[in-house]
Amino acid sequence: MDLTYRSPKTEVRESPIHGKGLFAREPVSAGEIVAVKGGHIVDRETWQEIETELGSAEIQVTEDLFIAPVRQDHRDGSMLFINHSCDPNIGPQGQIVFAAMRDIEAGEELTHDWATTDDLDYEIACNCGAVRCRGRVTGKDWMKPELQEKYAGWFCWFLQRKIDEEQN
Ligand SMILES: [Zn+2]
Repeated sequence: MDLTYRSPKTEVRESPIHGKGLFAREPVSAGEIVAVKGGHIVDRETWQEIETELGSAEIQVTEDLFIAPVRQDHRDGSMLFINHSCDPNIGPQGQIVFAAMRDIEAGEELTHDWATTDDLDYEIACNCGAVRCRGRVTGKDWMKPELQEKYAGWFCWFLQRKIDEEQN
């Protein structure tokens, strides 16, 4: 069941970064919408229970709400299959829409920087392969001033609001 929208210009296939990834089948122009996350809206407690069974498949939409699949047989249809990169070519616009940050060539993997969507407690080694890879990626990278500058206009609404609150 396809809960998530993925542009017909994209395809899901094996990724050199991790597992399956989303790729451009044909050129995508800057600003074009490549995917819209679908699923059910669940609170944090509910998602944490589901996550133990389904694994990472969610996007945080507010402090306490997540959009995610709630059943195993809906998981693949709800996945974006967008891997993290420290040098991404797509980013969130709002909470569930992902758009191209620049012109993208056919064959490129579509990646977003988790710093632009995540406010979570994790820290992982990054294997994204970008020249300026951060090496370690954390669920709090959105707080880094250099990333706030780099991704101005490309943070999800939920994080942008937190950034704005911090600065006031
Ligand atoms: Zn990286």
